[in-house]
Amino acid sequence: MEQFICNSCEKNYEMTSTIWKCECGGVLNIVKDTPRVDMTAWNNYPNSLWRYFETMPFSKDSKTWESVTMGEGQSPLIVLDPIEPNVYVKVDYMMPTLSFKDRGAVVLMAKAKELGVTKVIADSSGNAGTAIAAYAARCNIACDIYLSDETSPKKIAQIKAHGASIKEIHGTREEIAAAAQNAVDSEKVFYASHVYNPYFYEGTKTYAYEIYEQLSGVPDTLIIPVGNGTLLLGAYYGFKELFENGLIDHMPKIVAIQAENCAPLVKAYQNGKESAQPIKNRGTLAEGIAIAAPARSKQILEAVRNTNGTFIQVKEDEILNARAKLSEKGFYVEVTSAVNYAGYMKYKKKAEEKIVIPLCGAGIKSK
Ligand SMILES: *Cc1c(COP(=O)(O)O)cnc(C)c1O
Ligand SMILES: [Zn+2]
Repeated sequence: MEQFICNSCEKNYEMTSTIWKCECGGVLNIVKDTPRVDMTAWNNYPNSLWRYFETMPFSKDSKTWESVTMGEGQSPLIVLDPIEPNVYVKVDYMMPTLSFKDRGAVVLMAKAKELGVTKVIADSSGNAGTAIAAYAARCNIACDIYLSDETSPKKIAQIKAHGASIKEIHGTREEIAAAAQNAVDSEKVFYASHVYNPYFYEGTKTYAYEIYEQLSGVPDTLIIPVGNGTLLLGAYYGFKELFENGLIDHMPKIVAIQAENCAPLVKAYQNGKESAQPIKNRGTLAEGIAIAAPARSKQILEAVRNTNGTFIQVKEDEILNARAKLSEKGFYVEVTSAVNYAGYMKYKKKAEEKIVIPLCGAGIKSK
């Protein structure tokens, strides 16, 4: 039986389909050793993120994922502009539901299916909800998605199309999460949370494995947007596994980007704090990263500091300008995803620095 361990007090729990946080309030991690990375196994799997199946905490003969996958992962890594040959974009909006959240959702829902779950609940600012709803549909698992009544209508339409039941809430992102968590506890169902459930990060870590294969090595720097930190932590864990297996000789530096109007992690970083204090969201067009109280803030700050990385915050007009600039280069991203390029434009890079910028969500998802 797999175990969870609390990230704050280190209490252990049997992994069941209803547990989602520690009684102390802390977030849970999976109890496991660093996986042994056997690259020769990768070609035994389809060309998707499931190439790295054997690094994930599933039993080796588990086949559940085969009926859940929609071919997610292995997104292109492209030089953004020939005049900067060391700067790449990873086009993670080329996924079944048009955002990188499919990486985490497919692994999380494969686990839910393996556990025999019949209903899941999730809360989201949009893309995680879309991804969970799609994979829940694929698994024949009932799904309720809690979201803000101000969520982009295109994301709501996408979630509805997958047959999920939408719970629209008028309130802050934190109030919406609380409503979902109350429902999880009273209905005793699986909380398919991209924030709390550590299986989600087993999916997002494949972002690192793919970059490693595509570059035949490690980049110097990862630009990563951060709200709840699901891509940031996944990328960190993935490269850490490669490092601990001796496949790379250094960790890439993580440069984390937040919208200035909702930047609790930037504030904590600047003040030398171990974890972030909740702030008030002053409103940002980057709806996908408008997280005022990130539950895994301690892990995010640790990851950035351990890689000698840094934080950058961007203003609303810088975000819109970056979105326009990317479109001029042929890449149409949603507003949230332009934050990454806006952050890159403010980052003082060294000559020849090899940098990867993710394009996280497709342009047609937002206004
Ligand atoms: C979810 C998301 C992010 C940020 O991810 P976090 O897990 O909140 O850090 C960034 N961009 C897009 C398009 C997203 O969907
Ligand atoms: Zn605890």
